[in-house]
Amino acid sequence: MIFTPHEDSLFFTVTSRYGGVSETPYDSLNLALHVSDNPKNVLANRTLVAQKHHFLIENLIYMDQTHSANIAIIKDCASNKIENCDALITNVKNIPLMVMVADCIPILLYDPVNQVIAVVHAGRNGTFNQIAKKTVLKMVDEFHCCASNVLVYLGTSIHKCCYEVGEEIVRIVPKKYCEKRDEKWYLDLQSMNVDQLLSLGVVRENIEIASVCTCCDKDYFSYRREGVTGRFAGIMKLNG
Ligand SMILES: [Zn+2]
Repeated sequence: MIFTPHEDSLFFTVTSRYGGVSETPYDSLNLALHVSDNPKNVLANRTLVAQKHHFLIENLIYMDQTHSANIAIIKDCASNKIENCDALITNVKNIPLMVMVADCIPILLYDPVNQVIAVVHAGRNGTFNQIAKKTVLKMVDEFHCCASNVLVYLGTSIHKCCYEVGEEIVRIVPKKYCEKRDEKWYLDLQSMNVDQLLSLGVVRENIEIASVCTCCDKDYFSYRREGVTGRFAGIMKLNG
């Protein structure tokens, strides 16, 4: 994994759907409060993840994700929920940042030189809004990061094997990101995000893409496959 050499200063994980207490259709490690699961179970699940990975749940920052291009810089844990937001950046130690997904791409970013982390929620709209690119730009502007130092992990998400889209989408996306099979169109969101990052000077060798497709692999929640379902998460923290 792309971050492994730096794990002393960095914690990161991408959860699966297993090991929690939520009941069907959220079984079992649903980490999202916005999908009509029992909030007690969600909080129990978040506590289980915090205990397993030795971070304080009081410090966990998560977003009211709205498929926007809104980015928040986190300086403290005064507010755990960030409204109307799809990317978080911090250089403060011991503040875990969480992005929740079920097909969208959880993008984790780490600058090991300046010790800055970010998590990004990149679905179709977020990708079209270039949220990953804008997040790296903010890391550069606000924290003097160099794009060529930034390590990127595109976590488990829906791939072009399953991500069918309509003609209206195909019309507005460069053809190289679209694939036609059996008269249906499929979109490659991962490649769109990679190309946006490369255009900023992120190095291809510093980008890793999780090969597992959420819609193919039932170890993960998938909105496309299940409709009403839970959310798994990418979580990152700078260790103190
Ligand atoms: Zn698939």
